Amino acid sequence: MIIAVASGKGGTGKTTVAASLATALAEMGKPVSFLDCDVEAPNAHLFLGAVFDQRRDVDMLIPQVDESLCTGCGRCAEVCEFHAIVVLGGKPLVFSELCHGCGSCTLECPEKAISEIPKTLGILESGPGGAQINFARGLLNVGEPMAVPVISQLKKWQVPSPEEILILDSPPGTSCLVVESMRGADFVILVTEPTPFGLHDLKLAVQLTEELGLPAGVIVNRDGVGDTKVDDFCQEAGLPILMRIPLERKIGAGIAAGQPLTEIYPSYGDRFRQMFQQLEGILADRKAER
Ligand code: SF4
Ligand code: SF4
Repeated sequence: MIIAVASGKGGTGKTTVAASLATALAEMGKPVSFLDCDVEAPNAHLFLGAVFDQRRDVDMLIPQVDESLCTGCGRCAEVCEFHAIVVLGGKPLVFSELCHGCGSCTLECPEKAISEIPKTLGILESGPGGAQINFARGLLNVGEPMAVPVISQLKKWQVPSPEEILILDSPPGTSCLVVESMRGADFVILVTEPTPFGLHDLKLAVQLTEELGLPAGVIVNRDGVGDTKVDDFCQEAGLPILMRIPLERKIGAGIAAGQPLTEIYPSYGDRFRQMFQQLEGILADRKAER
């Protein structure tokens, strides 16, 4: 099963939930893989005590123009949907930060004046995490805007075996990075908090899962602050509330010290395992309905 853990906004406790779920399942002997897809600020390794023993670069091919062959026809700029190549005074200029590496300009150049060179966007790292978890993460280079290829290459690099449970820690928000991380998931756990901001961003995240056709459920973190509008929304939208995590000093201090919930309160191990069974039930019901 592939479970994506996401949230419409940052700071809701998404990574804490993802790491706690992975730990709870691994503790009962389930084979678990964990991919930290939050490539702009990955921190799940802190909760899972991952030790990296494998590493590789993430490269993307970008165009390089041979000016001796270029006639300045402008075809490359015409076909670039991202305005990453422009022709000024008969000379093409490539803005590599905007390039998506689609290769259209290279294909379309009538003079074969464009070749492709690799540009390193970030790195992938993997190694064992605590409780026998296969852990991997992507890390985007500082200042590099092109994060999607880092996520897609991370997912291709660490393909779980069919019997493994794969936990995907998605980036926060609802951008194309989140779409890329959720792609292929069987279920999405949306972590939110019962505040107006939490509700606003939860609605956007739910919209996204609906557009992707993915079943979702909600974990209410910092339960007890705010109001009941998140509950009301979940009820109206038919979204199961999978768990409530109270706002508590001991939990906050444990998370700040890099502890998953299963370590702060061992009883969370059973709670997450029960939640996993609930997800299995939801997916079995959906399959039976088809
Ligand atoms: S398409 Fe090729 S020949 Fe035309 S401007 Fe671009 S690089 Fe030059
Ligand atoms: S590779 Fe694609 S995105 Fe990059 S400059 Fe060429 S056409 Fe534009």
